[in-house]
Amino acid sequence: MESAPTLDDLPEVLAVRQVARRGEERLAIPETVAGRVEEQFMGDPGPQLGCQVQDALGARSSMDVPPEARVAKGDMAMADPFRHFAVEQLADGVWAAIHRIGPPAPDAWSISNSGIVDLGGLTLVFDTFMTAAAATELKSAAEGLTGRPPEIVVLSHGHNDHAWGSSQFPDATIVSSARARAALVAEGPAEVEAYRDVLQERLAFWTAAVDGDDALAREGAPFFLPYWQGLANSLPTLQLRFPDLAIEGRLDIHGTARRVEITTVGQAHTDGDLVMVLTDERIAFCGDLLFVGCHPYLGDGDLGGLRRALALLEACGAHQFVPGHGPVGRAGELATLAAYLDDLQRLATVADEVAIPEAYRSWALRRFFAANLEFTAGPRTAMDS
Ligand SMILES: [Zn+2]
Repeated sequence: MESAPTLDDLPEVLAVRQVARRGEERLAIPETVAGRVEEQFMGDPGPQLGCQVQDALGARSSMDVPPEARVAKGDMAMADPFRHFAVEQLADGVWAAIHRIGPPAPDAWSISNSGIVDLGGLTLVFDTFMTAAAATELKSAAEGLTGRPPEIVVLSHGHNDHAWGSSQFPDATIVSSARARAALVAEGPAEVEAYRDVLQERLAFWTAAVDGDDALAREGAPFFLPYWQGLANSLPTLQLRFPDLAIEGRLDIHGTARRVEITTVGQAHTDGDLVMVLTDERIAFCGDLLFVGCHPYLGDGDLGGLRRALALLEACGAHQFVPGHGPVGRAGELATLAAYLDDLQRLATVADEVAIPEAYRSWALRRFFAANLEFTAGPRTAMDS
């Protein structure tokens, strides 16, 4: 009887890719292996994100690093040579690729963050941006920083601004949660078509919004105009690339220098999110479970699941958190987002229209606040983006 594959099979799968790249033999991951790995992970016990490390080292808080130090680090990152994002080194072999919004790079086409990890003998990319241009630049950055092309791509979830760049990594093994893969396969092609249909109308709207009378739209334009400009560049030739490995539960990937722990968290920001934690380096790549300095997008989410995911991240022992949007944060940012959810809950029962609370008034993406309030209050609504 054929035995089911185990986690230990993954290096073999990756070795197949490496062999293929060297031109010795062209092989692909058999569909059946991906399917069986997925099956094996179904029903695993609830996720635990490196809690043993936290136990050993003690909890850390955002107070460890003063805010002014964080600003200085971000400014340094802006001096790097990339058009679509700024690269920020978080530890030896670990980098965040942080999106630019508005001046001084108004034509930057990433609106979300990615990561690059040199595992030692393996290069990993976390999230792929939305456009071919940004994804190609990310691939070049990963190769330049690690000396090898990315062999593994991990997708935090299936939203287009994180996943549509995946087609620029044809030789990499792409990993996502089983639910994110299912959503990409089921809904991705229709979503691409829908975006093609509204492209010109949305481009015209956001172009006019830059200096228009609508203050809320004007504030959102530095985010959404590049989003639609990037789409205008990408959509004509966009081909979706679906994940090869669909996991549910926990997947550790070991290189010779370091390892990453990938854990699915179920329904939170979307139906199928995952996080990637480097316990030794105390770094967590959060995807859109965390937004820093901007209102989160909640419209496809589950508020209870999001709270549970934030608590898991808080307990993982990391002290640098790469959000899906905004600059790299500390643990305090998790608490801030949890407080935001609490405030939404409280305000949603008071009135339909509420001013943005003082604590969040400086955040970007203000147009999300009213929609978040409505989402918290009642039936789901689709937010206009
Ligand atoms: Zn998202």
